[in-house]
Amino acid sequence: MKAARLHNYGEPLQLDEVDLLKPKGASVVIRVGAAGICHSDIHFMHGEWQKAIPVKLPVTIGHETAGYVEEVGESVRGLVKGDVVAVFGGWGCGVCQFCKGGDEQLCNSPRWPGLSQSDGGYAEYMYVPSYRFLVKASGLDPKYIAPLTDAGLTPYRAVKKVRHMLNPNSFTLVFGVGGLGSYAIQYLKLFSPTNVIAVVRDEPKAKLAKEMGSDYIINSKNEDVVSSVNKITGNQGVNVVFDIVASKDTLDVGIACLKKSGALVLVGLMGSSFNIPVVESVINEYSVIGSLWGNYNELTEVISLARANKLKTVVNPFKLDEVEKAIENLESGKIQGRAILIP
Ligand code: NAD
Ligand code: ZN
Ligand code: ZN
Repeated sequence: MKAARLHNYGEPLQLDEVDLLKPKGASVVIRVGAAGICHSDIHFMHGEWQKAIPVKLPVTIGHETAGYVEEVGESVRGLVKGDVVAVFGGWGCGVCQFCKGGDEQLCNSPRWPGLSQSDGGYAEYMYVPSYRFLVKASGLDPKYIAPLTDAGLTPYRAVKKVRHMLNPNSFTLVFGVGGLGSYAIQYLKLFSPTNVIAVVRDEPKAKLAKEMGSDYIINSKNEDVVSSVNKITGNQGVNVVFDIVASKDTLDVGIACLKKSGALVLVGLMGSSFNIPVVESVINEYSVIGSLWGNYNELTEVISLARANKLKTVVNPFKLDEVEKAIENLESGKIQGRAILIP
């Protein structure tokens, strides 16, 4: 089978011919229907995380996968060839306190496909070590399910953490209307009556933010974000900032926009560190909340929302052998929504 593999950090992926593993025990081989391209793949391929996540290359990239059951091991129950499944990517050990608590994505010894030593979904087939990492998505199209396994899942968890802070008089600022950001806006409007302000840098992203339900749009290329937020909120500031970029500049601006007792939710991984002003944070009772991916049950909830037609998913399909073109388009900001690979 064909697989797009990373051989060296910073180099283009190679389309290799590799052996297809035979499933044994609880494992399953799926025929990939679609694989989403997450910005984390770009951080990983550039080698930004090689110290934090040491991996022996080559490895097949891709942690946002949906497809069809191809073959199952002898102890797999409830799945047959052809079933549509989403792959939950937060593969954990199953026995540490986080796995036992239901948050496998926080496992002490994770083996995330495509982001660790396990091969991911940029391939014709994918080996999944246990059927407990699969969510049935019968009747749904893998093209629209693959992005839900991360772009759709991560903001779902992040928004759930702060929805108690939001009300009809509240404002929420979202930085980064990409794969994740387009879902963050939708969840904010679905789960709370808050007023959403999206920060973008170009017109196509402004249009997308509007389509996803944002009430206000700030284009940071030609507006000062803090002044525009003050104008929109009547100098109150915002209750919550979702930073799905998290670069030095968005973090500094985000904190400057917070209202008293506001929360900064960190989701993006573009920056490396930032300064938190101690006195302002204490006297204004700011909180900073990190949010990582989502758990298995949250993924089933997201898929239920998709099944009920409550989520818009915008995809830009590419063939597997166009993977480098898709990555280039994502890096240069030309993708609206999610780029997906269709083997
Ligand atoms: P994406 O490329 O699809 O979207 C990022 C968007 O941010 C783009 O639209 C880009 O134009 C915009 N952007 C960049 N800099 C900006 C700025 N200064 N102001 C306003 N907009 C800006 O990326 P994605 O796949 O949605 O991922 C976003 C980030 O979230 C990445 O750093 C990724 O690694 C991270 N991520 C985190 C988690 C988690 O569990 N916390 C999960 C998935 C992805
Ligand atoms: Zn991701
Ligand atoms: Zn674990």
